[in-house]
Amino acid sequence: MNDRFNKIIQLNTSGLGCWLTIILFAFILTSIGLGWVINGFIILLTLLFILPVIVFWGFQWWLKRKLVQDQCPVCSYEFTGFKNTEFNCPSCGEPLQVTAESFSRITPPGTIDVDAVEIPVQKIEENNY
Ligand SMILES: [Zn+2]
Repeated sequence: MNDRFNKIIQLNTSGLGCWLTIILFAFILTSIGLGWVINGFIILLTLLFILPVIVFWGFQWWLKRKLVQDQCPVCSYEFTGFKNTEFNCPSCGEPLQVTAESFSRITPPGTIDVDAVEIPVQKIEENNY
Protein backbone atom coordinates (compact mmCIF):
# COMPACT_ATOMS: atom_id res chain seq x y z
CA MET A 1 0.00 0.00 0.00
CA ASN A 2 2.70 2.43 1.09
CA ASP A 3 5.07 1.20 -1.64
CA ARG A 4 2.41 1.73 -4.31
CA PHE A 5 1.80 5.29 -3.08
CA ASN A 6 5.51 6.08 -3.38
CA LYS A 7 5.49 4.87 -6.98
CA ILE A 8 2.62 7.19 -7.82
CA ILE A 9 4.48 10.14 -6.29
CA GLN A 10 7.59 9.22 -8.33
CA LEU A 11 5.50 9.08 -11.51
CA ASN A 12 3.97 12.44 -10.70
CA THR A 13 7.28 14.14 -9.97
CA SER A 14 8.85 12.83 -13.18
CA GLY A 15 6.04 14.31 -15.25
CA LEU A 16 5.73 17.41 -13.07
CA GLY A 17 7.83 19.66 -15.29
CA CYS A 18 5.79 18.73 -18.32
CA TRP A 19 2.50 19.26 -16.50
CA LEU A 20 3.67 22.59 -15.11
CA THR A 21 4.44 23.91 -18.59
CA ILE A 22 1.03 22.76 -19.86
CA ILE A 23 -0.70 24.42 -16.90
CA LEU A 24 1.36 27.57 -17.34
CA PHE A 25 0.63 27.59 -21.07
CA ALA A 26 -3.10 27.15 -20.44
CA PHE A 27 -2.96 29.91 -17.83
CA ILE A 28 -1.26 32.28 -20.29
CA LEU A 29 -3.76 31.35 -23.00
CA THR A 30 -6.76 32.10 -20.83
CA SER A 31 -5.35 35.20 -19.17
CA ILE A 32 -3.95 37.01 -22.22
CA GLY A 33 -6.11 35.52 -24.94
CA LEU A 34 -5.30 33.16 -27.79
CA GLY A 35 -4.88 35.89 -30.41
CA TRP A 36 -2.19 37.68 -28.48
CA VAL A 37 -0.32 34.45 -27.81
CA ILE A 38 -0.37 33.49 -31.50
CA ASN A 39 0.73 37.00 -32.46
CA GLY A 40 3.48 36.83 -29.92
CA PHE A 41 4.61 33.49 -31.28
CA ILE A 42 4.62 34.78 -34.86
CA ILE A 43 6.59 37.88 -33.85
CA LEU A 44 9.00 35.75 -31.84
CA LEU A 45 9.46 33.27 -34.69
CA THR A 46 10.05 35.98 -37.30
CA LEU A 47 12.50 37.67 -34.96
CA LEU A 48 14.28 34.36 -34.43
CA PHE A 49 14.56 33.90 -38.19
CA ILE A 50 15.40 37.48 -39.14
CA LEU A 51 17.75 38.37 -36.29
CA PRO A 52 20.54 35.90 -37.19
CA VAL A 53 20.35 37.08 -40.82
CA ILE A 54 20.65 40.73 -39.76
CA VAL A 55 23.47 39.89 -37.35
CA PHE A 56 25.23 37.85 -40.06
CA TRP A 57 25.01 40.60 -42.71
CA GLY A 58 25.85 43.30 -40.18
CA PHE A 59 28.91 41.36 -39.10
CA GLN A 60 30.03 40.81 -42.70
CA TRP A 61 29.57 44.53 -43.48
CA TRP A 62 31.51 45.43 -40.35
CA LEU A 63 34.29 42.97 -41.27
CA LYS A 64 34.56 44.38 -44.81
CA ARG A 65 35.01 47.84 -43.33
CA LYS A 66 37.52 46.66 -40.77
CA LEU A 67 39.56 44.10 -42.72
CA VAL A 68 42.30 44.95 -45.19
CA GLN A 69 43.74 42.36 -47.58
CA ASP A 70 47.19 43.15 -48.87
CA GLN A 71 50.67 41.73 -49.39
CA CYS A 72 53.50 41.97 -46.90
CA PRO A 73 55.91 44.66 -48.25
CA VAL A 74 58.89 42.51 -47.25
CA CYS A 75 58.05 38.95 -48.38
CA SER A 76 54.88 39.51 -50.52
CA TYR A 77 52.87 37.07 -48.41
CA GLU A 78 49.19 37.93 -48.93
CA PHE A 79 46.89 37.94 -45.91
CA THR A 80 44.21 39.98 -44.17
CA GLY A 81 44.56 42.24 -41.17
CA PHE A 82 42.42 44.59 -39.13
CA LYS A 83 42.55 48.30 -39.94
CA ASN A 84 44.63 50.60 -37.74
CA THR A 85 46.43 47.75 -36.03
CA GLU A 86 50.05 46.75 -35.70
CA PHE A 87 51.17 43.13 -35.99
CA ASN A 88 53.96 40.87 -37.15
CA CYS A 89 53.86 39.27 -40.60
CA PRO A 90 52.86 35.60 -40.17
CA SER A 91 55.40 34.60 -42.84
CA CYS A 92 58.55 36.63 -42.16
CA GLY A 93 57.82 38.18 -38.75
CA GLU A 94 58.34 41.75 -39.96
CA PRO A 95 56.44 44.26 -37.76
CA LEU A 96 53.73 45.76 -39.97
CA GLN A 97 51.15 48.50 -39.63
CA VAL A 98 47.73 48.38 -41.32
CA THR A 99 46.82 51.76 -42.78
CA ALA A 100 43.53 52.62 -44.53
CA GLU A 101 44.02 50.20 -47.44
CA SER A 102 47.45 48.63 -47.27
CA PHE A 103 50.19 47.25 -45.06
CA SER A 104 53.31 49.24 -44.34
CA ARG A 105 56.50 48.50 -42.44
CA ILE A 106 56.96 49.98 -39.02
CA THR A 107 60.44 51.40 -38.85
CA PRO A 108 61.83 50.28 -35.53
CA PRO A 109 62.92 53.22 -33.36
CA GLY A 110 66.63 53.95 -33.50
CA THR A 111 67.20 52.75 -37.08
CA ILE A 112 67.94 55.33 -39.76
CA ASP A 113 65.46 55.51 -42.61
CA VAL A 114 67.10 54.65 -45.96
CA ASP A 115 65.25 57.45 -47.78
CA ALA A 116 66.40 60.05 -45.27
CA VAL A 117 70.04 59.03 -45.87
CA GLU A 118 69.78 59.07 -49.67
CA ILE A 119 68.47 62.65 -49.98
CA PRO A 120 71.52 64.42 -48.45
CA VAL A 121 73.86 62.29 -50.61
CA GLN A 122 72.08 63.37 -53.79
CA LYS A 123 72.24 67.02 -52.67
CA ILE A 124 75.97 66.78 -52.05
CA GLU A 125 76.49 65.27 -55.52
CA GLU A 126 74.45 68.06 -57.12
CA ASN A 127 76.51 70.68 -55.30
CA ASN A 128 79.78 69.10 -56.53
CA TYR A 129 78.83 69.19 -60.22
ZN1 LIG B 1 56.31 39.17 -44.53
